[in-house]
Amino acid sequence: MKVHLINPSGLSFGVGVITPRWLFVLAAATPASYGDPIITDETLEKWDPSTVSAGDVVGIGIHTGNAQEGYAIGRKVRERGAYAVFGGIHATLYPEEALKLGGAHSVVKGDGDLVWATVIADCGRNAPQETYDGGKVEGGEFKPARWSLLPKNKYMWASVQTVRGCPKHCSFCSVWKTDGQRPRQRTVDAVIDEIVELRRIGFRFIALADDNFYPVTLTDLRLAGQQNDTTRLNELKAIRAERFELMARLAQLPADMIFFTQITMEAAEDPEFLDAMRTANIKGALVGVESVTPEGLKDVYKEFNASGADLVEQLRTFRRHGVYVLGSFIFGLPSDRPETFDATATAAAQAEVAFAQFVMLTPYPGTVDFNRWEKEMADSPIRIAGIPITRRWLIPPSLRPKLYWAHPTMSAEEVRERTQSVWDTFYSLKYIWARSGFIKSMRARLAFVLISKIYRQMYADTGIATDSARVSRSAQWARWLAKPCQRLFAAPPMPHLKLPEAWTAPAPVEQVSSLS
Ligand code: SF4
Repeated sequence: MKVHLINPSGLSFGVGVITPRWLFVLAAATPASYGDPIITDETLEKWDPSTVSAGDVVGIGIHTGNAQEGYAIGRKVRERGAYAVFGGIHATLYPEEALKLGGAHSVVKGDGDLVWATVIADCGRNAPQETYDGGKVEGGEFKPARWSLLPKNKYMWASVQTVRGCPKHCSFCSVWKTDGQRPRQRTVDAVIDEIVELRRIGFRFIALADDNFYPVTLTDLRLAGQQNDTTRLNELKAIRAERFELMARLAQLPADMIFFTQITMEAAEDPEFLDAMRTANIKGALVGVESVTPEGLKDVYKEFNASGADLVEQLRTFRRHGVYVLGSFIFGLPSDRPETFDATATAAAQAEVAFAQFVMLTPYPGTVDFNRWEKEMADSPIRIAGIPITRRWLIPPSLRPKLYWAHPTMSAEEVRERTQSVWDTFYSLKYIWARSGFIKSMRARLAFVLISKIYRQMYADTGIATDSARVSRSAQWARWLAKPCQRLFAAPPMPHLKLPEAWTAPAPVEQVSSLS
C-alpha cells in the first residue's frame, strides 16, 4: 500500500512560485512504515492516474478554487480501487460534497497534522470512516514539513508557517472561522530548524505563510491594560514576546536570506515591530488594504484600516522601515464607483507599494459575505448549467460569472474591465521598471521585473480574463518566464549551515504601562 498526496490545479506551469506546504507537512505526518509518500503538485505537472494502484491511499487537498479539479481526481482514484481522502479548507466546509461528487471514501475536517496517521491506518484495514475531525492543532504540535521530498529546482520560494489563526473578522475572509481567532504559534526552535534545513538545500527566499504575522497589536495591549485584564494582557505580551524572539533568531541566519509574510496594516503603528522585521530580513509583506475609501472598508468590516491620505502614509511607513508591501485591493464593493478604480491605482502608486493585486469581490464559503449571499439567493435562486450559483465552484469555468453580486451602479462587465485595466497599468513594463528603482543590483532588479510579470500573468489574466485564448496565452507566458525566474531566486546550497545560537531575551520592558 502506497500513500499519495496530490495538490490539484487546472493550470500547470512547470515551475511553482511558492511550495504548497501542506503536501510536505502531510508527508511528515505519514508514518515511515508506509514509505515515502508520492507527491504530485499539479501546478507543476498533471497527475498521472497510472501511478495509483488498488489499495493505495490518496490524500487530495482542496480549496474552493481547485475543488472541481480535486473531485475529478478523487473519482479516478476510486475507479482504480484506491482510497480517496479529501482535506483542506473546502472539504472542511463541505464534506458531503467531496463524498458525493469527489468519490471520497473519507474527508478530514480541520488540521491534518495529527489525524492523518489514523486515516491511513483505517484505510489499511479497509475501514475508513466517512469523516474525521482533525480539530485545531496547538502550535507546539504542528508537523514540520518534510523538505527532503521536495523536487529540485521547481520552486522559487519555500514556505514555512509560524502561526495559524487571526484575531480579526473581515467579512470576505474565512481564515478566522476555519483557523480560529486565537493565534496558535509554533515554537521558535521548530520554525528555525525548518528554515535552516531549507537554506542548506539552496532556498534563500522563504514565505512565512501565516494567516497574520502580527497577531497582537498595540491597540490590543492598550485595551487589555485599560480593562485591567491581567490574564489577557499577559497572554498578549507572551505572544508578542515570542514574535520578537522569532525575529531575533531570523536575524542570526545568513544575510542573503529574505523573508516575506502577511500582516495587517496596524503594524505600521508599531515601529519597534517593523524595525525587528527589517533586522530579521523580512523584506516583504502582503497587506490587505482592500479599499482606499472609508465606505469600502465599512463594506468589508475592516474599519481598523486607514483610508485616503492616512492609508498612503501608513503604507509608506512600512517602506521607510525597510518592509516592501504587496498591497491587496478589492474591486466591486457596493460603495465602489468608476472613479474608485483610478483612485486606487493612484493610491497604490503614491504609497509606493512594490507589488499589488486587484481582486474582484467574490463570495468565499465560510465567510460572513458568503452566508449573507446564500440567504439572499435562497429567495430568488439562480442556476447556471443547472447548478445553483451559490455552488459557483461547480459551474464549468467557462460559464462562471466574473462578479456574483449585482453592483448598485456598475455592470459586472464594467467592474471586470476596469479591474483588468488597473492590472494592465500597474504591471506595464514602464511602471514596473520605475518601481524597481530602489533595487541596487541589476540581477535583483531583473528578478523584480520578472517576478512582477509572472505574478501578473499567473494571477491577473488567468483569474479575470473572459476569453480562453487570453487565459491560455497568459499561462503559456507564465510557463515561459517561470524557469529563468526560478534560477534567479535559487542560491548555492549551504549543506553545513549550523543552527543559530539560542536567543536570550533582553530584560523585560514595561511598555504597556506607557500605552494604557
Ligand atoms: S483578511 Fe487578514 S486580517 Fe482579515 S480575518 Fe482574514 S487573515 Fe485576518
